[in-house]
Amino acid sequence: MSPHPGGGPATRAIHAGQEPDPATGAVVPPIYLTSTFRQDGVGTLRAGYEYSRSGNPTRDALQVALASLEGGDRGFAFASGLAAEDTLARALLRPGSHVVLPSDAYGGTWRLFARALAPWGVDHSVAPMDDPDAVAAAVRPGRTALIWVETPTNPLLTIADIRALSDVAHAADALLVVDNTFASPALQQPLALGADAVVHSTTKYIGGHSDVVGGAVVTAHGALLPHGAVGPDGSRSLADAVAFGQNASGAVAGPFDAWLTLRGLRTLGVRMRQHGINAEAVARHLARHPSVTQVLFPGLPGHPGHDVARRQMSGWSGMVSFRVGDARRAREVAGRTRLFTLAESLGGVESLIEVPAAMTHASVAGSELAVPDDLIRLSVGLEDIDDLLEDLSVALDAVPTYPSDRSEDQP
Ligand SMILES: *Cc1c(COP(=O)(O)O)cnc(C)c1O
Repeated sequence: MSPHPGGGPATRAIHAGQEPDPATGAVVPPIYLTSTFRQDGVGTLRAGYEYSRSGNPTRDALQVALASLEGGDRGFAFASGLAAEDTLARALLRPGSHVVLPSDAYGGTWRLFARALAPWGVDHSVAPMDDPDAVAAAVRPGRTALIWVETPTNPLLTIADIRALSDVAHAADALLVVDNTFASPALQQPLALGADAVVHSTTKYIGGHSDVVGGAVVTAHGALLPHGAVGPDGSRSLADAVAFGQNASGAVAGPFDAWLTLRGLRTLGVRMRQHGINAEAVARHLARHPSVTQVLFPGLPGHPGHDVARRQMSGWSGMVSFRVGDARRAREVAGRTRLFTLAESLGGVESLIEVPAAMTHASVAGSELAVPDDLIRLSVGLEDIDDLLEDLSVALDAVPTYPSDRSEDQP
């Protein structure tokens, strides 16, 4: 089996980068728990490996599989999603660079740019990514090096048109990066729609079992640094600059983490299909409940991004957000479910519930990215759907509602 088998995505998820171990025939790539590799002579490496920050066979297997599933040139695995984002940002930004961020970006992404990178001379604007004209208006010609997109967004599940935004970015000689965490490569392939790189928190759907934190960058074939920039090794290639940064900053995925993530990745397609089926049933159920004032789910025909989502996604993912009219009620509902576990994170086989304003998005409270305080976010898991619907009904029915709480925008 070559490391880059052809075939469809389910075949590649199981075989890309994962040929049986040449030494023993082990069908599953072993966890190479070693920091260093014996050299056959000074500088004579046996299989190209010398030290596990620079390269490790288990990490390589994951990286090849990720690149294959995203249809990219090279994949890079990191210790977390934010480590991946940081390495990518520092590979392509310079002091004086400007970045356009989504107006409902993941809170940690906003914190990375607005607080960690700002002191190094990188500034940002925010724009609603479902409005390409507003994004174009936020671009500063000659300075904007990066447009950062999430779609669907976290936690409002807004849909951005990746192809339209790649045209906006490329007209400004900027790069388009898509955080593909919520859709995963099983449902959406941003590089085929014009993005220059994809990032993932593999902690979520790719790992899929809530047992490992990790991140990834996949670069598009031929992607170059913006505005004629040259990387530290003299190359204009984005992949070369990320490879340099992965080794130079060293925020790599460890071998055991890479192995767990690869184990999750093999079942990504079937999991995403069922997450989408369960989430759609939950969204329809919530839309009928009298305590629910609004359901945010791109699979509902009334969702403003429904048509774009139909065009660029092949399923709905497992995320559903909804509003219940007031902050106290949101906390009460989230505290009453039994199957939906009250916890941050998402994308695992088990269903989770949370209140973003008080939990995942507390870091953006009071900022331009603050989210409504009556919003509840669900990560719909793979339990039996009847059990999930009943759990939500019991929790919602236990919390009183008043007719005046219902807002106009009930779908
Ligand atoms: C969780 C998450 C991240 C950050 O990833 P970590 O693995 O927690 O560092 C980035 N983007 C999105 C959309 C996320 O959900």
